[in-house]
Amino acid sequence: MNVLIVGANGQIGKMVVEKLKKGKKHNVRAMVRKEEQVADFKDKGIEARLADLEGSVDAIQATMKEIDVVVFSAGSGGSTGYDKTILIDLDGAVKTIEAAERAGVKRFIMVSSIASNHREKWSGDMKPYMAAKYYADQLLEKSGLNYLILRPGMLENEPGTGRIKVGIETAIRSIPREDVASTIVSALDYPTISRQAVDLISGDTSIEEALTQLA
Ligand code: NAP
Repeated sequence: MNVLIVGANGQIGKMVVEKLKKGKKHNVRAMVRKEEQVADFKDKGIEARLADLEGSVDAIQATMKEIDVVVFSAGSGGSTGYDKTILIDLDGAVKTIEAAERAGVKRFIMVSSIASNHREKWSGDMKPYMAAKYYADQLLEKSGLNYLILRPGMLENEPGTGRIKVGIETAIRSIPREDVASTIVSALDYPTISRQAVDLISGDTSIEEALTQLA
């Protein structure tokens, strides 16, 4: 399959790109927003396609030529204002969903956030970000796309353990970014996990076993 990673230069995005390249099962394409990032990926033997999530749907769609699966792992990050929360986490995600529908993409994997589907759990400065994630996911669920929404817990930088818990969570827990990346890559082998939204945290179950239970 041809897989496009939106947010490929990000922390999870880079891990997904590297794992896909190493795995050699799928063709990975990196969507990035700067010319120098295109060159960096090219140096590593990875095809990168240029588009800014603040740009047009047409420009985003142009990166989806011959793409089977889109993974959305972009984000405005913690050091920008609420304007970017709206423009990237909400509108950037929604434009990517629109572009994917128009491009006839077969599957859309969204990196969302734990608790974004529970308004009563939104608190403090995180409220606008949670709202952005919530409405982007709502749009994806209402789209005609075959989607998998992963709502990871608080992201950590420790090495992955390969053991996760997926499903519906009541508590806000954490997960290493590497385990999120591994779950995304493994999910490509489970096409029957379709039109599902699940929380994703560290757990006791191997990634394959956890995904088999969802499939
Ligand atoms: P990250 O390292 O901040 O990477 C985000 C990527 O998005 C960056 O590569 C960035 O590009 C890209 N991006 C930002 N604006 C863009 C634009 N206008 N056009 C194109 N690309 C743009 O993110 P992460 O830590 O890997 O997180 C991945 C996902 O998990 C995000 O969706 C995040 O919201 C979500 N999440 C985070 C947490 C948490 O605890 N932090 C919890 C749950 C879910 P540049 O490299 O050019 O800056």
